[in-house]
Amino acid sequence: MILSIIVAKANNNVIGKDNQLIWRLSADLRHFKQHTTGHYIIMGRKTYESMGKPLPNRTSVVITRNNDYQVPDGHFVVHSLEKAIAIAKESGQEKVFVIGGAEIYKQSLPYVDEMIITEVNCTPEGDAFFPEFSPENWKKISEEPHTKDEKNQFDYTFVTYQKVN
Ligand code: NDP
Repeated sequence: MILSIIVAKANNNVIGKDNQLIWRLSADLRHFKQHTTGHYIIMGRKTYESMGKPLPNRTSVVITRNNDYQVPDGHFVVHSLEKAIAIAKESGQEKVFVIGGAEIYKQSLPYVDEMIITEVNCTPEGDAFFPEFSPENWKKISEEPHTKDEKNQFDYTFVTYQKVN
């Protein structure tokens, strides 16, 4: 199984503010949907609540310390990242995504094989950050720059990194 982070981050590593995204980038939403549809998506409780409900055509695995937390049938609540990864492995799927937020990205970095990053060319204020990672541990295998337009507020680049073994 390939464990893959998918994230959109600003130049200063900001990924969110007040439990929300902070840019309007329709191409990134489409990119996220294309990658994750049909897959298991692992997320922290706060990211799950920022979406309001499970995303269609994906299986949500929500991490919380709350033993009473519930999600709709067909989705999972777990109490550790390790358990989330174990459930995803049991699914037999080839690829599983970690979709955030900041706490879960930080904890999952040692486990992931790949990072699909949308580098958003802006420097906003925020309260949630993507963790620093050592460039020597990661190889950039693709890079696709785009210019802002009426549906995308900032220039953005789709970048894929693979872990160097
Ligand atoms: P998270 O979504 O990472 O959720 C944090 C919660 O997860 C904790 O409060 C806790 O839930 C649970 N949790 C974390 N670690 C563990 C653990 N080891 N065991 C059990 N439960 C655990 O929250 P963040 O605030 O870090 O990130 C949210 C922000 O990230 C928002 O602003 C959101 O918009 C942004 N975001 C941005 C993305 C992007 O691509 N730009 C993608 C996803 C999110 P509990 O409190 O219930 O116990």
